[in-house]
Amino acid sequence: MANTLVHILNNECPQCHEGKVFNEKSIFFNIGFPKMNASCSHCNYKFEKEPGYFFGAMYVNYGLTVAQAIATYVIAQFFFPVAFDLRIIPIIAFVIIAMASFNIRFSRLLWIYMFKNYAM
Ligand SMILES: [Zn+2]
Repeated sequence: MANTLVHILNNECPQCHEGKVFNEKSIFFNIGFPKMNASCSHCNYKFEKEPGYFFGAMYVNYGLTVAQAIATYVIAQFFFPVAFDLRIIPIIAFVIIAMASFNIRFSRLLWIYMFKNYAM
């Protein structure tokens, strides 16, 4: 389980862990839309199994974003005198925007890993 998370964060192919899913050095610091490889350069595992395959990754992305927004609120509220201070909202917005690029890549990798055992 922890090993799988390492493979996901290293942008590795779910089947052979040799090839890369995204044609980028790191999934952490990137601006712009992700550049995905069509298939693994090492084992030829096809990442996008059907048209619209990554539509479901959008829901994973939504879940990640909400979790990060809640975590940001929980941390930020300690720095304000009242529990619900409106000044927390721009902080949450900043975190969501800052994490968006990572979330796109991370959610697609999670989606690929979730369904790697289902042949289509
Ligand atoms: Zn592979």
